[in-house]
Amino acid sequence: MAPVVIIGSGLAGYTVARELRKLDSTMQLTIVSRDEGSFYSKPMLSNALASAKSAAQIATASAEQMAAQLNARIIAGVEVETIATASRMLHAGGENIRYSKLVLALGADPIAVPLEGDAAHEVMQVNDLPAYARFRAAIQGKKTVALLGAGLIGCEFANDLVGAGYEVQLIDPGAQPLGRLLPEAAAEQVQLALQASGVHWHLGTTARAVSRVASGLRVDLADGSTLFADAVLSAIGLRPRLQLAQRAGLKTNRGIVTDRLLHTSAADVYALGDCAEVDGHTLPYVLPIMHAARALAKTLAGTRTAVVYPAMPVVVKTPAVPVVVCPPPSLPGAWTSQRDAAGIEARFEDESGKLLGYALVGGATARRQALTKLLPPVLG
Ligand SMILES: Cc1cc2nc3c(=O)[nH]c(=O)nc-3n(C[C@H](O)[C@H](O)[C@H](O)COP(=O)(O)OP(=O)(O)OC[C@H]3O[C@@H](n4cnc5c(N)ncnc54)[C@H](O)[C@@H]3O)c2cc1C
Repeated sequence: MAPVVIIGSGLAGYTVARELRKLDSTMQLTIVSRDEGSFYSKPMLSNALASAKSAAQIATASAEQMAAQLNARIIAGVEVETIATASRMLHAGGENIRYSKLVLALGADPIAVPLEGDAAHEVMQVNDLPAYARFRAAIQGKKTVALLGAGLIGCEFANDLVGAGYEVQLIDPGAQPLGRLLPEAAAEQVQLALQASGVHWHLGTTARAVSRVASGLRVDLADGSTLFADAVLSAIGLRPRLQLAQRAGLKTNRGIVTDRLLHTSAADVYALGDCAEVDGHTLPYVLPIMHAARALAKTLAGTRTAVVYPAMPVVVKTPAVPVVVCPPPSLPGAWTSQRDAAGIEARFEDESGKLLGYALVGGATARRQALTKLLPPVLG
């Protein structure tokens, strides 16, 4: 019998493998990854300065250690080029690898900002450990970092950098930070708290050009202003990696399309994590991966199991201003915000007053569990 093959050694790939091993210790398992295959917690990348961790310290196990832990063959540093679903075979690094079942845990690519200027190529993006190591090397001994994008990852990096003594210039086209997650009142609180910590805001505009000057980098903004930095980090969002699946003829939409069994449009091919669109949901966070991995491991071990997503709060790692958000589904509804001594509690409710999502800022984050219990599941 050919092995179960997982493509990807990120949180999604390794979590499925771990969950599968809890259920079946002997099934043949192969993991192919184009990166070095070490295990690390990606969310740590945006708060590693505060925890005084170097890029190397973030990796907690090497590919060899993971292979031993998981009783798996790990083929690291090798990109899967093609998948032939009819013959259940993939081609990677000159080798044809057969599979009985295939799991795509391919992750997502950072979206590149279209920029002019002779240093546009120096703009960094951090979505994996090697990129983080390069970013840390680039800011070592430097003073100012310009950040493009004030979403979850941009705000977390901003907080981490100011906490470590860097000057941060944060640029976002929206009128407020965390525009996709927070209503105005909650976002304003985040903006003010990060500003008090030292973040310089440039909202309602975008970076137009990045050029090299004697002192470092010059960033020209669309509103006509200019600022200077030693490094520019872009955190404007991620796009699921679809090319491999598309070349194999799998159905894709925003992500690789799966049903609630995490099954794609091809027989015995599954997908989860940042690359997947599970029953219409693309949720690039840790908790959905954990739920999906547990369900998929059961299916791979022989018990068909549909994924259940409960309401899954996201903690924004900004110690300057605690934020927890349970983003509402894209259903009709409206935000209402209440401010009290503790902080801000914003509720997203439908016409009938049913709670569909929430955002909590400051001390109000203590109400997270109570509110989460009131929410309907994302996939029940
Ligand atoms: C800075 C940062 C902070 C974050 N903080 C949080 C947080 O606080 N809370 C939260 O819930 N979420 C957070 N997230 C999101 C969360 O980390 C991700 O959802 C999760 O790590 C994605 O895991 P993944 O395995 O799907 O993808 P990835 O970790 O990207 O793994 C993809 C894997 O696929 C491999 N691969 C891709 N293509 C091929 C190919 N053709 N051949 C072989 N291998 C291939 C790659 O090498 C890699 O091993 C954060 C993300 C970032 C970037």
